[in-house]
Order: sequence, then C-alpha cells, then structure tokens
Amino acid sequence: MNTRNAVAAVAVVAIILAASCVFLVGSNGHDEKWYNVDIIENVFPEYREQSATDNYYAYALNDVYRRAAASGDYESAYLIYYANSVNLHGDDMISGDIIAMLDKRTYPELGDSKVLAGYYDSLLDMTARNALGVDAIKAYVEEIDSITTTDQVVRYVATGGSAGMYNSIISLSRMIDDVDGNNAVTISVPVLPSMDENYQDASVEKNLELYGAMLELFPGIDGDSYIQAAVDYDRLIQNNATGESTQVMTYSEVAGSFAFASALEPYHEAGIDSYYSPDSGFYSTISESLTQDNLMMYKSMAMYDLLMDASKHLDEEVYEIRAEWLGEEYDVQESVKASLEDDWSHVAGMLVGKYYYATYVDAGLQAYCEELIAECLEAAKEYYDSVEWIGDATSAKIAQKIDGMTVRCLGPTAEQMAAYDYSSVKADSYYGMLAALRHANRAIDIAQASGDLRDQWKSDMLPHTYNMFYSVDDNSINILASYVRELLRGHDSSEREYILGTVGAAICHEITHGFDDMGADYDEKGRKRAGWLFTEEEKEVFDSKVDALADYIAGFYVGNGRYLSDHMIGEVMADMGGSAITYSMLGDGDARKFFSALVALEFFVLDKESYYERVDTDEHPPGMYRVNMEVQQMQEFFDAYGIGEGDNMYLAPEDRVSVWA
Ligand SMILES: [Zn+2]
Repeated sequence: MNTRNAVAAVAVVAIILAASCVFLVGSNGHDEKWYNVDIIENVFPEYREQSATDNYYAYALNDVYRRAAASGDYESAYLIYYANSVNLHGDDMISGDIIAMLDKRTYPELGDSKVLAGYYDSLLDMTARNALGVDAIKAYVEEIDSITTTDQVVRYVATGGSAGMYNSIISLSRMIDDVDGNNAVTISVPVLPSMDENYQDASVEKNLELYGAMLELFPGIDGDSYIQAAVDYDRLIQNNATGESTQVMTYSEVAGSFAFASALEPYHEAGIDSYYSPDSGFYSTISESLTQDNLMMYKSMAMYDLLMDASKHLDEEVYEIRAEWLGEEYDVQESVKASLEDDWSHVAGMLVGKYYYATYVDAGLQAYCEELIAECLEAAKEYYDSVEWIGDATSAKIAQKIDGMTVRCLGPTAEQMAAYDYSSVKADSYYGMLAALRHANRAIDIAQASGDLRDQWKSDMLPHTYNMFYSVDDNSINILASYVRELLRGHDSSEREYILGTVGAAICHEITHGFDDMGADYDEKGRKRAGWLFTEEEKEVFDSKVDALADYIAGFYVGNGRYLSDHMIGEVMADMGGSAITYSMLGDGDARKFFSALVALEFFVLDKESYYERVDTDEHPPGMYRVNMEVQQMQEFFDAYGIGEGDNMYLAPEDRVSVWA
C-alpha cells in the first residue's frame, strides 16, 4: 500500500492559485472555512499521530503549523487573502469582508478605505440611485445629441466622451499578440444585433424596440432619427464586410487610412505597433462613411451604447423597460452588483495592493529575490544536463531557453505604481462614478502597454497578487511580491533549506513549465514550434514517461468517488522538476528541513465546499498530493526518513514516474 490509499478519505482542500496557495493560519471567526490548522487540531486529529513513513504531508504539517503559530503575525496574510479573493471571486460577497476588515483595522497609509466603503454602499443603494431618475444620465445623452461635426465624432471616440464610453463606435482592446508576444490592439466595430452580449439571439427589431423605448425617456431627443440612423449604420457595416480574415497592420499603415486614428494614438505612444482589424476594407468603409450626411449614424451608435449601458445600472424606469422587454423577472440588485463588481473590485484591489506594496516590499526583498532566481536558473541548467535520457544537443537548447527567460520580479516600481491612481474617482453621483472608473481603467490599460510597465507587469496582475507563474507565450517567469514576502515571513536568508524548499522550489517549478508537456512545444522566444526541443528518440522517452505519470496521478483516490486526473500532468511534472532541481542546490544542508519546507509551500486555506469542484477543474492537485507525489520520486527523501519497502510512503524505483529522472 502506498500514499494513494492512505490519503484517500481526506475531504478537504484549497483555494488554489497558479503555483501554490495562500499562506494563512488563524481561522477564528471563519466557520465556513477549514484551514490546515483546523485539520491538525480538530478535523483530523489523527493527523497528529501520522508519521513521515505513513503520510509525509500530514506529518510535516504539524511542524509547519508550530512554526507559523510561533511567529504570531498574520495580518498581511489576511490582507493578501482577502484582496486576492476580491479579485478572483468578486461575486461571492468577499468584497463586503474586505471592507469590514479595512474599516476594523487601522491602516494609516490607507486613508482610502472610507472611500472604498462609500463605493460599496453606493453600489448597493438602489433607492438612492433610483431617486436620481434618468436625470443622472441626461448630461451624457445631451452631450451626444449636441455633436454637430465629424471632428466631434472622432473626438468622442478618442476620449470616450464624459461617460467614458470608449467602445461604442469603434472598439479597441489591448491583447498580447500570440505571434510575437508583444502588446497589440484589436479594433472592432459593433453591429446592432450583437451589440449587447445578452441580445445575441435577439432580432434587430427587438433591439430597436428597446432602444426606442429608452429614447422616449428624453423628450428633447428626436428618437425616430436615431433609430433610422442605427439601422443605416448596421446596414453599412453588414453590406461592406469583405469577408477577409483579420488583418494586422502597423500604426503608420493604419493612421494613413483611418479616420479614427486619433483613438489609437495613446496606444501608439505607449509603444504598441500591431493593430488588428476585422479586415482591410473596414478602415476605408468606416473612414469614407464619416461624412456630415452620415453624422447621425455615428451619433446613434454612441447613443445606443450609452443607453444600453445605463439601462443595466441606473433607474427604475429604465430598468422596467428592460425587464418588460426581457419578459421575465429581472433582479436589479443582482444585475447591478454583477455589472459593477469588476470595476469596484479592481479599485479595491489596487488600493489594497498599493498599501501592501508600500508597507511590505523594499529594495532588500527585490535584491534577494533576483539573486535567488539567478541561482535557480543556473541550477536548472545543470540539473537538466544531468538527466540521463536528455542528450547534449537538447541540454544546450534547454540552456538556451533558460537563458532567454524573462524574469519579472515582485512587480512595479514605486514610480510605476503611481500609474495606478484612482484618486480622480469620486462617488458624487452613481453614474459619474462609473464614468470615472472607465476613464481610470482606460488610463491604466494604456499605462500597462508602455515599455516600462510591460517589462514588469501583466495586465491582470494587481500589486499584491499572491502568485507566481510561467508564461509560455513570452517564456517568462513572473514572481509577485506578496508570494515571496509571505513565504519568507518569520524566516531569514540563513535558513537555506527553508528558502530552497519554498521560494526556490516554486521558482524551479515555474522554470520546469518551460519544458513540460506544453512548454516543450515553445521555443526560447515563446513562439509555438512543435518538436523544437526533443529529438525523436527523446520524444518517445518523454511520451512514455508522461503516460506512466498519468497512470500514477489517476491512481490517487480523493474521496466521493473521485480520482485525480491527467489534466494535472503539467503541474505535477513541474512540481517534480521543481523539487528535484532545488534539492540539487542543497549541498550539505539538512534534507529533512528541506522536505518539510515543501509542505510549508503548500500550506493552504481550505474550503471544504469547493474541494470536489476544484479536484475536477483545477490543474493543481490538492497540496497534500502535490507534496507526497514529489517526495515519493526522490531516493533522498526515503534516505532522510529511513523509509523503505513496506512503508506507506515508499515507492520502489521501478514505480517512480518523474519525467526528470
Ligand atoms: Zn505550475
């Protein structure tokens, strides 16, 4: 019998982030969550009796728990946990928790917590918002209606107007270009029937009916003209679609032929030079049609977008029109919450992140992290070179890919952090707040496209995000500040075994993703090149090892009729590579301390309810399986604890499945 069976009955697990999980203890007042602490103390008291030979994870967790409890300071762990939750699970009421937490505790640097609380209150206060009536958007409607020249249309597209409606006539969205891994912008154009994702199956007539009903709320507006113009615009787009595939152009190519080029300027100035359009005919169609005669067409699209947007959030009267049109009970409260949650959580997350960064991240941490990464990269090269089935030519390619890895360490500098500024967002009117948020988000999007930020930062990463990841499309390793800082909490750099088993193992895990079943098909620049890495013979070995690994993973029963499955192969492969590489860096260090640190790395927040769902969907196995699977591949582990045949943890050499052995 081995670990697969021994751990079978455990029905607990984790909110799992990409490489590892939240380091958190002290669960007072959180009845719905199980933390590892509780598992030891209450839920599985038998864990306290587990030995290293029985269930290594359970055994070592006791030690990790004692160390964490001794350090006694978990404040920033809470902060990280909640802030990440706001970002990742915005719809599950954790937003309220973070507000409560910020209000309860004193964070002098975070004077913004009251502002956050104000946002949240106004988010939910439907009565106050409804009292504003359609007046709240009247100024935005009039702004569009008062447009009299084509130049003003162009300016509206470029600035989003006062309401920040950037995507109404021409839609721009920043993306990572999968050809060269650089920032790019996709340009598209709204077409009437599918302008709102909720209405994709609806007819044009239905859309126009709703549009007309909303226009009627504004007596000074000539509704019929707007409706007719919307139909004309739709017809223009539909009739002129060339059917060619998406085309990519440089800024100067686009600027030469596109009437709305000024909207691209900020992206161009930020260094983006790839612009994807629906087809080449699109630019001339749109540009040539922007004439005084067609002015209403463009105004109408801006108006349509504004009113559709407003109808989701704003006013009882508008809401009733929409609910009637939908023909079903329409829960305003839920709809409003869902619509704004993303915007709001981004603000909350950014402010918490700024606070976290200013308080806990310093130059020493930065230097320490960079040094450790450099050491890990060198060790990884040596390690792969020593793997028997990998030949010299492939080792050289591996080294080349490792040398080509971009390392983003800890996140933005203080100056870059200044770009994340929401101070202009005021909650003086509900829709005004929304408009301000859109402007702020746009500014951040553009700032993130600029060279400096691009070097450090991915678009959806907040300053405090507790995570580390490998990005296959640009061959980069990305380590965020809180990940390093929280793992190092209570430890100093002289604890070599601990550092290697936690931060080191995580770094080497990410490096290994560069060569796992997906990474092996991408070259040192992140270009997809199947067959680039291994020779044919090596590929055969690799594939057979992957098959064996899949069988091994599938053998772990996790309860409730479920087994781990082969969608976890890449992660398990990275875990096994990560621990093996870092062990090779240990020298004459204490092996037991090292293995115990691997458990600290997987010290989870446990959420009983989502356990099975996560086993089914998350690519990372629950921490217990990760650790036990890793150490079972290593003879050094068995030697360190005197584990041998007949012991539960033991795996005979012929049954070991690490690809990197
Ligand atoms: Zn991973």
